[in-house]
Amino acid sequence: MLEKFTDRARTAVKLAPQEAQLLGHNYVGAEHLLLGILHAGFGSAFDALRECGCDPETLKTAVKRLAAPSLAEKRTCHDCGVAEGQLHELGCDMERCPFCGGQLITCDCRYELLGIDASPGTWAYSHGLTDEQYVAFSHLLEEKGRIPYIVWPNLCARCGSLWPGIFSVSDEEWSSVIEPQKRDKILCRDCYEEIKQLIQAGGQ
Ligand SMILES: [Zn+2]
Ligand SMILES: [Zn+2]
Ligand SMILES: [Zn+2]
Repeated sequence: MLEKFTDRARTAVKLAPQEAQLLGHNYVGAEHLLLGILHAGFGSAFDALRECGCDPETLKTAVKRLAAPSLAEKRTCHDCGVAEGQLHELGCDMERCPFCGGQLITCDCRYELLGIDASPGTWAYSHGLTDEQYVAFSHLLEEKGRIPYIVWPNLCARCGSLWPGIFSVSDEEWSSVIEPQKRDKILCRDCYEEIKQLIQAGGQ
């Protein structure tokens, strides 16, 4: 395919995987191609960017800032900072419960396992566990085996793109667009917008 490229384009395309590597990414995307063009420092694409008043250095910085976090960054828990393969600090948001698979700090396993009534109105409902109960629960956790921090790549459930960018929509909108059994899935922005448009078009 590369034989149809101009020398300049070929240079930019060849630089792109290096740019990806420098950012610690395991894929080559449009952002790396753009960085390749900027680093090559010539060609009509580069001239066009200058013509628009783009300062190559500013653009390079912006692209790097907006690019996906590197794999190295993902290798540590963003909440408690432990490395991949290690146990979270107890109380970290990211730790999963070995009993139910849910978020450890919010699931109800602690009450069920210790036989504590935590229904609305009870002491446990408003205060949680006592220090003693918490120690007892930590022992049960250790016995069962806590779940260490492991990086699971996020994929768009519809098109499969890796590490789709995060975007936010209200819960109300999300539940009006996404089927109930699929609401916990990850979607890229493009797929989300496409689904939304399909539904809107279908309703007319
Ligand atoms: Zn953690
Ligand atoms: Zn649980
Ligand atoms: Zn997608």
